[in-house]
Amino acid sequence: MNIIQDFIPVGRRNRPGRVNPMRYISIHETGNTNRGAGARNHAGYLKNDAANIPVSWHYTVDDREIYQHLPESEDAFHAGDGAGAGNRQSIGIEICVNSDGDFARAIDRAAALVADICRRRTIPVENIRQHHDWSGKNCPQNIRAGRPVTWAGFLGMVRAYMGVNPTAHTPAPVSAAPYLVRVKGGTRVRSGASMNHAVVMTIERDGVFTIVEELNGFGRLKSGAGWLNLADTQRR
Ligand SMILES: [Zn+2]
Repeated sequence: MNIIQDFIPVGRRNRPGRVNPMRYISIHETGNTNRGAGARNHAGYLKNDAANIPVSWHYTVDDREIYQHLPESEDAFHAGDGAGAGNRQSIGIEICVNSDGDFARAIDRAAALVADICRRRTIPVENIRQHHDWSGKNCPQNIRAGRPVTWAGFLGMVRAYMGVNPTAHTPAPVSAAPYLVRVKGGTRVRSGASMNHAVVMTIERDGVFTIVEELNGFGRLKSGAGWLNLADTQRR
């Protein structure tokens, strides 16, 4: 997942710098339908216009780019709940609604990002919250109205990116591993055990790798780099 880190400088009013225990993820929409009001534009806003007011969050996602404005491990001002769990204990994500963007695609990319954070930080899907849950604000406004997906639909997209099928019982990871596989150069490594997961790297040249876990036909690399489609490999 390609994330552009463009952090608010340390010491600014909107970078309070307290430790965020990362118990929740908070979903927002920017509410800014202006043309060009994408992720990059909001990164500029946070570093300039908003630098001296308590307004900040961690990521902005549009249909093409993801900007990160703060380390996930720091708190921010996006939930409207003062020193509550929204501001102090959640990772805030804004989805762009700029009129020249593809909102459905931005939502899809946000779901992929949220799934990635849930996995990395061990945050359960139940702890993905709407801004509305913290302060009553009608945000994320479109998703709350089911445009173009409902809240349940959005959470379903997150689960899909996490490789969890909500309608079937979750198959337990099959641990036939560890074992070695031959992999050809050019094979893609994904962030999770499905083709829906983002490509995190491409293996440069032919080699032998250790698989430590199998799930859904994918194998997790011992290196921690990610998952291989086992159909692309040859077991040794
Ligand atoms: Zn919001």
